Amino acid sequence: MAENYTGNDYVHAQPYGICDRCGFKFRLKAMRTEWTNLKVCGDCYDPRPEHLDPPYITPNEGAPLPNSRPDELIEASDDDQLDTSTGRPGFD
Ligand SMILES: [Zn+2]
Repeated sequence: MAENYTGNDYVHAQPYGICDRCGFKFRLKAMRTEWTNLKVCGDCYDPRPEHLDPPYITPNEGAPLPNSRPDELIEASDDDQLDTSTGRPGFD
């Protein structure tokens, strides 16, 4: 035993922390902040599940082509219009 042992294990500038999950005392530098924002020890650390992260989509994925044209011109007919008096399609 060292000469200067005082009975406590205080070390200057190495504070303790209490694990938010198991409640045991650990050195604060040995603890980690979890994705749930809990400060936990190494045994209690639970990494963020991968299925909670959205998939990476490249910036241009699904973007329309610039200056694209429709394949054929679709004309609107009167049958597609709603009759304002009846609320039904077509004019009679
Ligand atoms: Zn713990």
